[in-house]
Amino acid sequence: MRQSAARDARTSTSSSLDVGEPDTLSKMSSIEASLVPRVEFGLCGGSGTLSKPYSDIVDDERLEILATGLCWETPFGRSPEFTHFRVTGSKGPREALAVRMHGWRRGVKRADASLQTFWVFHQAGVRKVLADGGVGSLNRLLDPRDVVLPTDFIDLTTRQDIYVLGDHLLIMRQPICPIMHHDLYMAASEQFSRVFPRGTYLVTDGPRFESIAEVAYMQQLGGDVVGQSLAPEVILARDIGACYAGIYMVVNYGEGVIREWDHAELRAIFFEESDVVARCVLDTIAETDLDSDCGCADLRKPSLLDIPDERDEP
Ligand SMILES: [Zn+2]
Repeated sequence: MRQSAARDARTSTSSSLDVGEPDTLSKMSSIEASLVPRVEFGLCGGSGTLSKPYSDIVDDERLEILATGLCWETPFGRSPEFTHFRVTGSKGPREALAVRMHGWRRGVKRADASLQTFWVFHQAGVRKVLADGGVGSLNRLLDPRDVVLPTDFIDLTTRQDIYVLGDHLLIMRQPICPIMHHDLYMAASEQFSRVFPRGTYLVTDGPRFESIAEVAYMQQLGGDVVGQSLAPEVILARDIGACYAGIYMVVNYGEGVIREWDHAELRAIFFEESDVVARCVLDTIAETDLDSDCGCADLRKPSLLDIPDERDEP
């Protein structure tokens, strides 16, 4: 068992839910799952938008905050806090659950935070996952404040057994949803002067930055940017059958690339650009086609391996 049984639960509509003792995790999970609102979008907010709570940084008449501070017990531990909001654009109202900083918290392993987040997304029926974040440059053409919308990734993390469902063969030849990617690119192009619609995101464990030798190695591998947040999110999105796309701002040069990065500039980018990146995400939620023939669903096939899952029922 990956966690102790839950003794409390909290949502905006239920401040105290006494489930009694003993309560099985599966029972708790089913109770908790019934409290997760149904939404179309899951947002993995990163340093690009969520250095502050989402509700504080976006002044947009399309946006309606429905609830804040939502969290649930999951088979992987207590979830991070979510904001539930509605965006009403030309295609009608759409709802989202957003988590800040990918669900990372001190004292919680990042892999567990990702599993908690995507368990909630799965229970919510999320069909589209959008993410943002800050990245370091590997490609010498890139400068701070450039925006990159990656189309591929290299996962150098050492996390293992990262899946919520694990019952499908996940094909990663098209990891990024082409339709959401296009919509995110159109939104970003209206806001930023340099937007790159393709690139390879190299993922590390973090949270430390890379050494000069590591950056040189990652350049040889073919990475354009380096960061800590595209995987496992892109993999977990496919695991639950959702599309994935992300927008990433270069916040520093990789070590040994062009020149040493400046901490004051890094901080300035985080806080000055967060509203603009958030607006790009909102534009995409409002305008993207929910029923597009993007092909992502065809890249998730039933597993041919009948391996029993010894974990508690997610
Ligand atoms: Zn798709």
